[in-house]
Amino acid sequence: MKKGLLLVISGPSGAGKGTICKRLLETDEHIKVSVSATTRLPRIGEVEAENYFFIDKNKFLEMKDNNEFLEHAKVYDNYYGTPRQFVIDNINRGDDVLLEIDIDGALQIKDRFEDAVFVFILPPSLKELKNRIVSRGTESKHDIDKRFSLAQGEIRQVIKYDYAVLNDDLVKAIDDIKAIITAEKCKVMRVYEDIKKLI
Ligand code: 5GP
Repeated sequence: MKKGLLLVISGPSGAGKGTICKRLLETDEHIKVSVSATTRLPRIGEVEAENYFFIDKNKFLEMKDNNEFLEHAKVYDNYYGTPRQFVIDNINRGDDVLLEIDIDGALQIKDRFEDAVFVFILPPSLKELKNRIVSRGTESKHDIDKRFSLAQGEIRQVIKYDYAVLNDDLVKAIDDIKAIITAEKCKVMRVYEDIKKLI
């Protein structure tokens, strides 16, 4: 059984990563999204085990000590981590797994999974980015300012990624990511076992 693709998606707060991941899931039953654990408090409307596993700091540290995270990082004052087992199980089953994680976490994945694919989502402009964070209405003024002030530094790190997707049109951004998945699956190194049967 061919392994699934591990697709890491990052980008500044407000770039639209969450919406893009949600839509991608709806388009293909073999795309799965990893649900992270976080010490952040749930926002209004967020659902346990759907958006995140909301846990306290002690539980987070316990999971970290038990090596239950594939990667973990402190982002905007809270801890976030990717539960290992879900990702491994789904990839081994041949499904593609999306990780919507920050840059620190993405770099940890880069060290551990040489064939993971790294996609950075860019907003059309900084003005639009701020509009999106504000109009989401889920963060306090302090959190909005913090997220926005870090955005430019985050965008500079796009150079560490394989692909950049501009999210000025959601449908186009999703099509771009689907095209990336298709192209990645045609890479010679990924189909080498099939090729060997022909020669
Ligand atoms: P938010 O609080 O807006 O849901 O997420 C804040 C940031 O944390 C986003 O950049 C998001 O991609 C990142 N994040 C979410 N889950 C994880 C995770 O499991 N690991 C890491 N490293 N970052 C995460």
